[in-house]
Amino acid sequence: MSSKVLYKELNELKEYLKFYKNDNLLFIIDENVANLYREFINDIRHLPGKKNSLWIAPSGENLKSFIHLEKALEFFLENGVQRDSHLFVIGGGATSDFSGLVASLLLRGISWSVVPTTLLSMIDAAIGGKTAINSIFGKNLIGTFHLPEEILIDIDFLKTLPQEHRESGLGEILKYGFLSAEISRNLLSKDFRFQNLVTSSAKYKENLVERDFKEQGERKLLNFGHTFGHAIEKHYSLSHGISVFWGMVILFIIFDEKENLKLLKEYAEKIDYKNLTTPWSNKPIEANSFFEYVKKDKKVKGSGKIDLIRTKKPGVPFIETMDLNELENIFVAKLTEINSFEF
Ligand code: NAD
Ligand code: ZN
Repeated sequence: MSSKVLYKELNELKEYLKFYKNDNLLFIIDENVANLYREFINDIRHLPGKKNSLWIAPSGENLKSFIHLEKALEFFLENGVQRDSHLFVIGGGATSDFSGLVASLLLRGISWSVVPTTLLSMIDAAIGGKTAINSIFGKNLIGTFHLPEEILIDIDFLKTLPQEHRESGLGEILKYGFLSAEISRNLLSKDFRFQNLVTSSAKYKENLVERDFKEQGERKLLNFGHTFGHAIEKHYSLSHGISVFWGMVILFIIFDEKENLKLLKEYAEKIDYKNLTTPWSNKPIEANSFFEYVKKDKKVKGSGKIDLIRTKKPGVPFIETMDLNELENIFVAKLTEINSFEF
């Protein structure tokens, strides 16, 4: 099972939809995107020969709730969803997480595709078929695995993306420069093109997912930088992707990986990633409270061990199962170095 990662500019996308194999098309579109791209939305609402129904999704994380799930499901049932209906989702990761769940529940599952409109969703959230809403007991606890047929990328959407979301995506994308040797070479090459970085990162994730759909092995590699990243996200209330960036920095410092640190800096310059002041410059990391967050990471196993994703050099990532206490000792021994670190 796999999804196709395709590059389709907005104009091409209209044509693509016009001749789409299914005639009964459903759309879920993020409300901000619908407002910003009115003309495009208007065009796809009136495709000749196609029956179509559109549900505008409230933007942001609040969408991922039972209330909206019920509303969207009932809306499509009222508007004649059929077994051969196909759902197109246009929006960021919140919209695709939610809409994938809608697709997997309608009539016990209809096919779907995503047009990701944030950088984070182009290289991560839209790919891999993990769908979810949130529970009062935690994020993403209610969901299914339901692969989209296609991910249709156009980086032009990023022109309207607020800076904060852009930066978050930039932080996350750099992990691929360590997971894949080819992406690393592209990042360092003179002919570097951002569009290629986005599509090759999306394809890298797609390939991993194809080999390990339910995250029993290799798919875990995508959590590179996330163990400390999640702790930074909580400790400093920063966006996810930016936290992953600093999570990689901590990982490289504690294992003395100077080459990787140097590479990260080069990558950051290449993609014009500006946020290079450490989050802890004004508020040093305090080992105990920081490590409490590390211990809550979902990669921690019952046995007090954690699956840490590491790489000696780009393209050879591996999973190292470590004792949490051992990791904490290594971290504490390097804390002064971390707290005084500057790029
Ligand atoms: P998001 O979908 O909430 O979008 C962020 C904001 O940007 C929203 O306000 C949205 O309206 C706006 N927006 C979207 N596209 C825009 C555009 N082109 N121009 C202007 N504004 C635009 O957030 P996100 O960062 O894309 O995704 C985060 C979500 O993804 C989280 O819910 C997270 O759990 C999920 N996620 C899922 C996976 C997965 O594998 N399923 C992986 C990573 C993250
Ligand atoms: Zn992430």
